[in-house]
Amino acid sequence: MKPHRTLRFLALLLTAAPVIALLASGYSATKSSSAKVARPVHWGYEGHEGPRHWGALDPAYAACGKGTAQSPIDISKTGPGTGKPWKLDYKSTSLRIAHHEHVVDIVDNGHTIQVTVDEGSTLTTARNTYQLKQFHFHTPSEHTVNGKHFPMEVHFVHQSADGNFAVVGALFEEGPASEHLAQIISHFPKAKGDAAHFPDKQIDLQLHLPASQAAYSYIGSFTTPPCTENVEWIVLRDPIKANRAQLEAFAARLHHNNRPVQSLHDRKVSAGNVAGGFER
Ligand SMILES: [Zn+2]
Repeated sequence: MKPHRTLRFLALLLTAAPVIALLASGYSATKSSSAKVARPVHWGYEGHEGPRHWGALDPAYAACGKGTAQSPIDISKTGPGTGKPWKLDYKSTSLRIAHHEHVVDIVDNGHTIQVTVDEGSTLTTARNTYQLKQFHFHTPSEHTVNGKHFPMEVHFVHQSADGNFAVVGALFEEGPASEHLAQIISHFPKAKGDAAHFPDKQIDLQLHLPASQAAYSYIGSFTTPPCTENVEWIVLRDPIKANRAQLEAFAARLHHNNRPVQSLHDRKVSAGNVAGGFER
């Protein structure tokens, strides 16, 4: 293995660590070679392992219960943003889905369908510069707008070199078929815990983004344990489209994997434009 590939493999391994841990915990019949990863406490969306109990399941999940800057939220009012001036720009407009021998490409980690991507998509804001690591889906949407859920939401998870996170969320509504989703659905892993190979191909990020660049932004958290805070959130205002069969295919696979909306506390949601920065 060449040194640079080793680094890349390690970076992707970090991204895949929760998946590997789940695999190692016997969640699936899929064999994993990383059997020594510490077992995360299991969590889910129902009953005793559901969102209301996450904070008590494990000390590492405390922010899920006690955090005051949690995600998702209901977006109803926007106001002047707090903190530093906000600028956002996609330096790359294409996502390349990588072909890696060592790393799974599409995984069903028991909580969502996740697509890991190769390096090359950069997100720049006033706070930081982030690399896209993976994207995954929630049915129905996690963020609501004026209390209304959308049938599905995709999260593009970005990480900076100093270990901070930014997530771009896009909401789905019913419309024409999405070519991009069709590709993903046709490569769904067979069962929870499984991984599926995704052929090396270019996927245009624009296929996954609305024509309008209007977006909301706020500072929140991961929407799953450990609910880590200080995540920069960008939720695109206009929904993107997929047809009913596609939305149903995801819903049938994911069931309800949306965390309920969290209190805004003293946070403000900014409204602005992805290309032109955000109003303050
Ligand atoms: Zn998510």
